[in-house]
Amino acid sequence: MKKFAYITLLFVPLFFSSYASASEVNIYSYRQPFLIEPLTTAFTNKTGIKVNTVYLRKGMIERMKAEGKRSPADVVLTVDISRLSALVEAELTQQVNSDQLSRNVPSKYRDPAGHWFGLTIRARIIYASNERVKNGEIVKYEELADPKWKGRICIRSGLNAYNLALTSAIIHHHGEDYAIEWLKGLKKNLARKPQGNDRAQVKAIWAGECDLSIGNTYYMGKMLKDPEQTDWAKSVNIVFPTFENGGTHVNVSGIGMARFSPNKDNALKLMEFLSSGEAQEIYATANFEYPIAPGTQVDDLVKSWGDFDADAVNLMTIAKLRKRALELTEIVDFDG
Ligand code: FE
Repeated sequence: MKKFAYITLLFVPLFFSSYASASEVNIYSYRQPFLIEPLTTAFTNKTGIKVNTVYLRKGMIERMKAEGKRSPADVVLTVDISRLSALVEAELTQQVNSDQLSRNVPSKYRDPAGHWFGLTIRARIIYASNERVKNGEIVKYEELADPKWKGRICIRSGLNAYNLALTSAIIHHHGEDYAIEWLKGLKKNLARKPQGNDRAQVKAIWAGECDLSIGNTYYMGKMLKDPEQTDWAKSVNIVFPTFENGGTHVNVSGIGMARFSPNKDNALKLMEFLSSGEAQEIYATANFEYPIAPGTQVDDLVKSWGDFDADAVNLMTIAKLRKRALELTEIVDFDG
């Protein structure tokens, strides 16, 4: 597997550079093939434009910097506002003006300057034991720091991008002093040191180690579809918490046009297609996420988890607070 990845890294760009043409478009993706292939197939069927996708697990920025003006990348595709804004800050994207993209993507889920556009959202929610937590017992993110939950909460590392975005949102709503106290309070309520991924926390609820955990919504779908994890999923209810003066915290999966895109026209066509309601629904359903284009439908399973109002904050604001969120998380030694 490692060897294959290495060979792919080495030769695919050469292949792209030699064959970049009016009938192709190249994607650099942090997202997995099962999510991207249905979309690229639909796009090719519709337009005749061939899509080449490089799947990366890390190092997109380093790679695009090294490739410079010769980079074959036309469209970059990833999750999390922090990753999208890191690409923008590294000056690896370019401005895109498109009425279609502006219509399909609500303004809080895109860069006003057109460097990135969200395609789907996921909420960061509370998984609550359906045996040990009553309905309505916790409804706000702020309450996670309430001593009432002492020794009852499980969470992954505070330095993880998902948690940093949540902490950024706490800073946005309440300021830094409050955010520090919130982090300290939450830390005191932990049943164990932060560890594992979002699903491992739900497993810990199932095992009786804790009663609440924090995780992204789509993991409920993934656990339900995995025979080894179905019981974990069935031991919890999803709670869509809100901020005291806001909605539920969400993050995006999104796209941008690469700064040196060699197939700009096709890149724009692909981006507009990906932003369409039709494509968003395919994409969202494949990963139990939420489409954001006006008039789109949420998958039935995802809908069954309940409705929520997403926080109104523009995700650019969350991205800008990330550095401070990281510093505060370190100051309180959250993982220690
Ligand atoms: Fe994830």
